[in-house]
Amino acid sequence: MRYLTDIEIAQAKNPLHIKNIAEKLGIDEDDLEMYGKHKAKLPLFLIDDEKVAQNNLVLVTALTPTPAGEGKTTVSIGLTEGLNKIGKQAVVVLREPSLGPVFGMKGGAAGGGYSQVIPMEEINLHFTGDFNAVEKANNLLAALIDNNIQNKTNNLNIDPRTVLWKRVMDMNDRSLREIIIGLGGTANGVPRQDGFNITPASEVMAILCMSTDLDNLKERLGNIFIGFTFDNKPVFAKDLKAENAMAILLKEAIKPNLVQTLEGNPAILHGGPFANIAQGTNTIIATKMGLSLANYAVTEAGFGADLGAEKFLNIKSTFAKLNPKCVVLVATIRALRHHGGAKSEEYNTPNLERVSEGFKNLEKHIENVRKFHVEPVVAINSFISDSDEEVAFVIEKCAKLGVKAVVSEGWAKGGEGTKKLAAAVVDVVENKATQYKPLYDWKSPIKQKIETIAKEMYGAKTVEYSKQAQIDLRRIDRLGFNDFAVCMAKTQKSFSDNEFLIGRPEGFTVTVREIEIAAGAQFVIPILGKMMRMPGLPVIPASENMTIDKNGVISGLS
Ligand code: ADP
Ligand code: MG
Repeated sequence: MRYLTDIEIAQAKNPLHIKNIAEKLGIDEDDLEMYGKHKAKLPLFLIDDEKVAQNNLVLVTALTPTPAGEGKTTVSIGLTEGLNKIGKQAVVVLREPSLGPVFGMKGGAAGGGYSQVIPMEEINLHFTGDFNAVEKANNLLAALIDNNIQNKTNNLNIDPRTVLWKRVMDMNDRSLREIIIGLGGTANGVPRQDGFNITPASEVMAILCMSTDLDNLKERLGNIFIGFTFDNKPVFAKDLKAENAMAILLKEAIKPNLVQTLEGNPAILHGGPFANIAQGTNTIIATKMGLSLANYAVTEAGFGADLGAEKFLNIKSTFAKLNPKCVVLVATIRALRHHGGAKSEEYNTPNLERVSEGFKNLEKHIENVRKFHVEPVVAINSFISDSDEEVAFVIEKCAKLGVKAVVSEGWAKGGEGTKKLAAAVVDVVENKATQYKPLYDWKSPIKQKIETIAKEMYGAKTVEYSKQAQIDLRRIDRLGFNDFAVCMAKTQKSFSDNEFLIGRPEGFTVTVREIEIAAGAQFVIPILGKMMRMPGLPVIPASENMTIDKNGVISGLS
């Protein structure tokens, strides 16, 4: 039997008109800003802080993933269907996909199987233009910087060698990583080394996701740190009077997008920062919008809980005063086999011994979630290759830790397959939720914040700082950025900074190589390894398998 592909399942469904989805959230049709029949933007006045405080936020995260992804988006969507099926009003709040992975290797980010958001082609392609707006705002600032360097008058005296601001494009294109701009003589700019990042790595994306309203967005854009003058003074975007024009370009992008799940439940998609170098979760505005409009808002944070959930809880929830009442830890038997030492060709072969050894990884994530005073529920994202005894083993091990583990069959069955998971989440929300507690105080010194994360979350024994990182710490101090949050940049493949240390490594040292400043987003980014900000395409890009027919029907998009 051949399984239907994601796009085949999505295309077989006739989406409801978006006004019918809005109706389920009590939104007046007049307040919808429609983009065709199946997408709409939501005005910010629909955010209601009282409701945000009252309603229930559920965070979906995962154990340390294999490269394929363990199904957080799929489980988030499936859980939302399940909650609605058991009579709860629930909305899923997710990130928007980036075009890079769509045409590269990983594919889109609209869920999978019978747990998807639709229309999937439009969501995965240009959607409502938010990524485009982020790219344009980012590149306007880049153009203003180089124009300022070129000018003899109105010149801030920027030292071109210190400019940190990169241009961005939403495409995997490795040949743009390191480039020389401004060649061709005096009329064509001042030559300097530059480069492109992919759009989800732009600080403008991080800022959009941290902003609470248009004023706050503008202020943050103005605070972007660009580099230094020849006499070593810091230069910010506001010195170029850039923040208003950048905010103008983002005036529509700041509004969250409403679409629907396969079962016609509401889905809000907004923003899309990377999870390894940025905060990896949708906008604060979208999460608050979800909580303003529905009793349950289910949201996802990228990669494993050591990255996404840590940042969601220490950065986003702290700043936005959100209180997640339950954390769903997605686990797959495949990933547990991997953490128990299985090679990739053995991922789909049952092996209780490997799962038993690999459970240590999940156990550490469970302990970590509890450090925030939030109760986890484990969702075993069900794959065809799972054996009954492996699944029973995980459920029993979790029960010994006092954690409910539930098989989630959203991929195969939609909401019908997640009712049990939904019930387990409701039980935690209604009976076990307290006020969550961040791991660190933003006001404590940067080094202390880094150590807390490395030791408490990763299980590291010591943290070492390279010479460059020590210089960076002094610079942060000189610029007065000590009370920023810490947004770690680390491999998603291990708790440590060494991607080959699977399972639950112990006694290791992490090395901070350098520390970047994202002054607009209000965090510093300690870099714990080589981080990719402009991916390349694989040997056989996903684009080769895509087609479009004369009626505009697309196939091969995944
Ligand atoms: P994440 O959000 O954790 O990166 P996704 O939900 O995007 O993961 O899922 C990654 C890929 O795995 C998607 O292509 C999805 O269709 C597929 N997938 C997810 N869950 C299952 C499952 N239970 N069985 C088979 N494939 C799945
Ligand atoms: Mg995802």
